[in-house]
Amino acid sequence: MKAAVLHNENDLRIEEVNKPQHGPDQVLIEVAWAGICGSDLAVYQYGLGENIHPLTGRKAPLTLGHEFAGTIVATGENVDHFQVGDHVTVEPLIFCGTCLACNSGYYNQCQMVGFIGLNTDGGFAQYVVVDASKLHKLPDNVSLEEGALVEPTAVSFYAVRESKLKTGDTAIIYGAGPIGLLTLICVKAAGAAKIIVVDISEERLQKAQQLGATMVLRGDQDDLIPTILTATNGGADVVYDCAGAQQTINNALYTTKLGAQIMIIATFKKPIEIDVNLVMFKALHITSTLAYRNVFPTVIDLIAAGQLDVKPVITHKIAIDDLVEEGFEKLLHDKSQAKILVTPTSNH
Ligand SMILES: [Zn+2]
Ligand SMILES: [Zn+2]
Repeated sequence: MKAAVLHNENDLRIEEVNKPQHGPDQVLIEVAWAGICGSDLAVYQYGLGENIHPLTGRKAPLTLGHEFAGTIVATGENVDHFQVGDHVTVEPLIFCGTCLACNSGYYNQCQMVGFIGLNTDGGFAQYVVVDASKLHKLPDNVSLEEGALVEPTAVSFYAVRESKLKTGDTAIIYGAGPIGLLTLICVKAAGAAKIIVVDISEERLQKAQQLGATMVLRGDQDDLIPTILTATNGGADVVYDCAGAQQTINNALYTTKLGAQIMIIATFKKPIEIDVNLVMFKALHITSTLAYRNVFPTVIDLIAAGQLDVKPVITHKIAIDDLVEEGFEKLLHDKSQAKILVTPTSNH
């Protein structure tokens, strides 16, 4: 079968590999669609490192892809709740289940946390084997394309749910990439009255406007901070950082109101400086979330109910043979792209 295997940094190969075999507690999934994530781009550029993951025993080379949906084509003998033909999406977190974090219900903060598609073979392939415990069934009115968006939506949904946002609040989102746009959709569904989205790409801001932002602003405009302070009557209630840069955190600190919250969703390439006195004088709360926990069923229900309309974040759909040029390279160089979905089978 065909798979996109990362061998080294800048060395992602579409190649023939053996079809995987499922164990008694696993299923074999024929992948329909898989999304390319920012973390896929990061490992494409910088590699997966030399460490063998303690839970999977794997390191590169391995098949990438952790945002995917497909159809079950075979089930192990111990699998009761899923059948051949079911449409499913996969919650790709790998965790030990026994550490302090896991025992507290924070399996996303597991000491050994990993991902299917980063620490073992993932969904950029015709077939993938997954533990049945990681499956979530898609109802008939949720398409396989939407199924591939459940994982990134869960990132945004969890961050919004963990934030202090209340109905009628003002929110600012820094960064209008896929996670920023999905955060916008979740913030809107949560009842924010004013939603300002800031990015440096005109195309992304247009997309944010289509998706319900009440104001969009260029991050590089000189009067950004006074413009936001005027529009918000002194600052936002919650600021979501989906960009992960020194500048966006500085902007976040200056565009929050007294007692507001800064929720950090993006990861940062390097440590940044924070003006703690500003945090103190404005009584700000700075917090963060990592991935998600226990939200996949709710996200699927909300997509099914039409309350989270996530499809517009898809900007491009490609075949696996074009994954490097039309997927990874495009995302690195064309900032108008949001979510690119890949299909490994030719009948989509
Ligand atoms: Zn991801
Ligand atoms: Zn654990």
